[in-house]
Amino acid sequence: MSKNYALIWDLDSIYSGGSGSEELATALSETTKEIALFKQAVNNWPIPESKEDVSEFLLLINQNADITKQLMNAAAFLECLSSADTRDLKAVELTGSVYQQLSELETIENEWHEKFALVPDALWTSLLTENGLSEIAFMLNEARDNRKKKGTREEEAVINALSVDGYRGWSDHYDTVVATIRIPVVIDGVEKQVSAGQALNLLSHPDRTVRVAVFEAYGKAWQEQSQLFSDTLNHLAGFRLAVYRARKWDDVLAEPLAINRLDEKTLATMWEVIEKHKTTFVAFLNRKAQLFGIEKLSFHDVFAPLTLDSEPKKYTYQEGADFILTQFAKFSPKMASFAKHAFEQQWIEAEDRDNKRPGGFCTDIPIEKESRIFMTYDGAPGTVATLAHELGHAFHSHVIREEPFENTNYAMNVAETASTFAEMIIADASVKEAATKEEKIILLEDKIGRSIAFFMDIRARFLFETRFYEARKEGIVSADRLNEIMKEAQQEAYQNALSEYHPQFWSSKLHFYIADVPFYNFPYTFGYLFSLGIYHQAIAEGSGYEDKYIALLQDTGAMTTEQLAQKHLNIDLTKPDFWESALEIAVGDVEEFLDLTNDLV
Ligand SMILES: [Zn+2]
Repeated sequence: MSKNYALIWDLDSIYSGGSGSEELATALSETTKEIALFKQAVNNWPIPESKEDVSEFLLLINQNADITKQLMNAAAFLECLSSADTRDLKAVELTGSVYQQLSELETIENEWHEKFALVPDALWTSLLTENGLSEIAFMLNEARDNRKKKGTREEEAVINALSVDGYRGWSDHYDTVVATIRIPVVIDGVEKQVSAGQALNLLSHPDRTVRVAVFEAYGKAWQEQSQLFSDTLNHLAGFRLAVYRARKWDDVLAEPLAINRLDEKTLATMWEVIEKHKTTFVAFLNRKAQLFGIEKLSFHDVFAPLTLDSEPKKYTYQEGADFILTQFAKFSPKMASFAKHAFEQQWIEAEDRDNKRPGGFCTDIPIEKESRIFMTYDGAPGTVATLAHELGHAFHSHVIREEPFENTNYAMNVAETASTFAEMIIADASVKEAATKEEKIILLEDKIGRSIAFFMDIRARFLFETRFYEARKEGIVSADRLNEIMKEAQQEAYQNALSEYHPQFWSSKLHFYIADVPFYNFPYTFGYLFSLGIYHQAIAEGSGYEDKYIALLQDTGAMTTEQLAQKHLNIDLTKPDFWESALEIAVGDVEEFLDLTNDLV
């Protein structure tokens, strides 16, 4: 048995004194100066004329890394402060100034990358290969290629300037409109007006009569404002498409695929394999409907909890920590000893108290080479899994720190690899250790819920976004038509398994309104299945897998996703085999669930 771990984190070891920290203030005024120097150095950087022209280039690479690390450090620290105490307005204010600095840095980086593009191809290649830069060549090449795919310097400057009141403006406008949404609900006999976020929570209320009423009011509220949302979405997408046209980009998937370093063929194969196994997940939804005593599930029933006689066991924080350490050790002693270190060094904020933000995250503290995890621990198996999830993120950061800093920036589609892997270990172990059949059913149902989310819910979002952008190319898409496209996408993704859908989902989901990242959906599904496939291999191969797994994590920021899978797993992601093996786990869960619930219906 371990000693008792603290429920609150230690932030003073990063900068002492919270948001009033002098150390932090000094660090931030330092970066302001360094950014000015970096800007000057980029402006003065002569385009290399021979492969020997490398010393200034190396200096710029180091300068860029140093500033980025310092700003990441400060941003992470401030995020921790404002999450742990929402009343810390000084932290919020300072966060604003750090983001201001980060955006200045990005502008300078863009100017720098523009110069990359001016170096002739052959010279560029020898500049990298003959000066020991091969190790970080992927990132440098990517920056150069991305720049080359864009327009001229003048065109890009105009696009940038217009984007502030263009899609960024529309994205902000979305938040403004959402904030005005009020939904009338009846709680304990009293009618109340709640916000969109509060209503969303009520949509997974255990009492079905509550859900039914809220769902109706919810749909109505979005419908009433549909004109505002359709204007917003049409203009945001219209701006994006105009930018694409200016850059001569035809395919709307090109940008999100590039952001995720993913091949279109991989994505297509992944979806194909998921579609092939849909009947299993439809059978799950039908069984869940039977357990609710209804014919078919409504949209709001899909993620609603099952209510059975037995509640899953609660874990004290120490029990949860011990459970995680024991289960991690079965897969990877290195991961277990790392997690132990994180508990002992107080990297985790888990206390259940007022004035904390909801949700959880893990953030990297690059200068101290540490991480911090934020969450609220309530003892349910779900929070043990969340804690494991965040520890998985921290482990990813930990192992990738051995790589050059330039190679530590991994994309969204592989960002959830280590976290999902860790979460799976815990979710599986909890199911295995369930004391009663009812407990096992509840835990399995929760686990399968993830598959439903990634294979059906996210699939619907992907289908909608693809079809909407195609339609938008032809002109404005009316609110009614948006409802139709959304409903059709949901029907297809859920294979008509539901009795009612949520046609206004395109207005209620923030993800469709993010300016910088289009298609904020498929990377989730990719990440989940990618991790399941790795988990499948780990189970099959046993203890020898640990080093292979770590080596894969270490390369997540240094190559394309296909190269990563080929190099470390010896698989071709464009072929179905790997995806089939990943699906096997998810399908197995459903089969077990159907077995266990057979005599309950
Ligand atoms: Zn995560």
